[in-house]
Amino acid sequence: MKKKGLALHWKIVLGIVLGLLFGFLMKNFELKDFVVDWVKPFGTVFINLLKMIAVPLIIVSLIVGLADLKDISKLSRLGGRTVLFYLGTTFFAVSLGLVLANIVKPGSYINQEARESLLSNFAGDASQKIELAQKAKESGPLQPLVDIVPENIFTAMGDNSSMLQVILFVVLIGIGLILIEEEKAKPVVDFFKGMNDVILKIIDIIMLFSPYGVFALMAALMVEIPGFSTLGALAIYGLTVLLGLVIMAFLFYPTLLVLFAKVSPKRFFKAMAPAQLLAFSTSSSAATLPVTMECVTDNLGVDEEVSSFVLPLGATVNMDGTSLYQAVAAIFIAQAMLPYSLDFSTQAMIVITATLASIGSAAVPSAGMVMLVIVLGQAGIPEAGLALIFAIDRPLDMCRTVVNITSDAAVATIVAKSVGKLNSKES
Ligand code: ASP
Repeated sequence: MKKKGLALHWKIVLGIVLGLLFGFLMKNFELKDFVVDWVKPFGTVFINLLKMIAVPLIIVSLIVGLADLKDISKLSRLGGRTVLFYLGTTFFAVSLGLVLANIVKPGSYINQEARESLLSNFAGDASQKIELAQKAKESGPLQPLVDIVPENIFTAMGDNSSMLQVILFVVLIGIGLILIEEEKAKPVVDFFKGMNDVILKIIDIIMLFSPYGVFALMAALMVEIPGFSTLGALAIYGLTVLLGLVIMAFLFYPTLLVLFAKVSPKRFFKAMAPAQLLAFSTSSSAATLPVTMECVTDNLGVDEEVSSFVLPLGATVNMDGTSLYQAVAAIFIAQAMLPYSLDFSTQAMIVITATLASIGSAAVPSAGMVMLVIVLGQAGIPEAGLALIFAIDRPLDMCRTVVNITSDAAVATIVAKSVGKLNSKES
């Protein structure tokens, strides 16, 4: 039976549009402080609610999902296919970014004056990000491996950037549950099944608040965003990134979905709209994760055994939008700052480093920009060039986050189909 009233995604769209409008008016009436003091906190509360529920959701749904697999070989098959598709889509995204940046040459539209003004206006912001990246760079090549294993699981659970550590711990619990006698495992699994339903209900309740939450987020964004005086010079760069993201979202994933999962683009986008709109409003795949999981399981019909494993992993490591953006941004900065063009081997190096950098990017706003510093460093492009792209990073972040979660959902659907866990009757 259809629910009465406006569908949730339309309410969120309304929240976005009205929030932007409200922020715009308040900015013009010089009431920025009012928005920051009295409206923005509701947006922060909304994001915190989503983040609050994300870790319990991962733990509970992953335990239930893994225990339902009942077989370790199924887990390795699932894991293998997921990693294959995640790497494949990211590789495609970076390569597409490089091709577009080489064809459009957005850096050639930056004249001397624009370059100098951007570099001086945003030097401070850029150096903050460079410092953050420096810390990540200082560690040895095997540090990411060391980082996956938590020293203390409670500390890992308390820190939203340690999602991979939590996933590893829960996968071990799931394996333990598969390996012990069924009658001993059953009460544990039943408990988590019950908790799973409770958490899903809580997400439904949080989502009732979503139109107001995104309204507050958008209003705050509008009053806090720096002026767009330099937008002209950056328009071609921004449009190149957007073109790449649009190709990924509307051509690449739909093609994969039709080929590998027999899911029509219309059905996919209808199912994913709430999560995509939320990714756009929050700029964080991690905050969006609870809703991505709900859309993929409830609306697309992906079995929880698959979604509970593939999606939390994807939110952390699979960022196609981010990797595409890093490729375009690196080439753009090189074109604008270097007197020579990058040779083939340097560009190939960008493919590898941007793939790794996107895997290493945290699923929070502007994390992709911090990791871009590493890509620039590896390719011999001046890191100070980060200042060039600062002015329009936030809107691009919003868009690349949509692609990041769209990719996770598409891969979850394809992997589910390949292991016979896609219920095609769901709508
Ligand atoms: N905001 C992105 C995400 O959470 C990461 C990034 O590209 O900055 O998915």
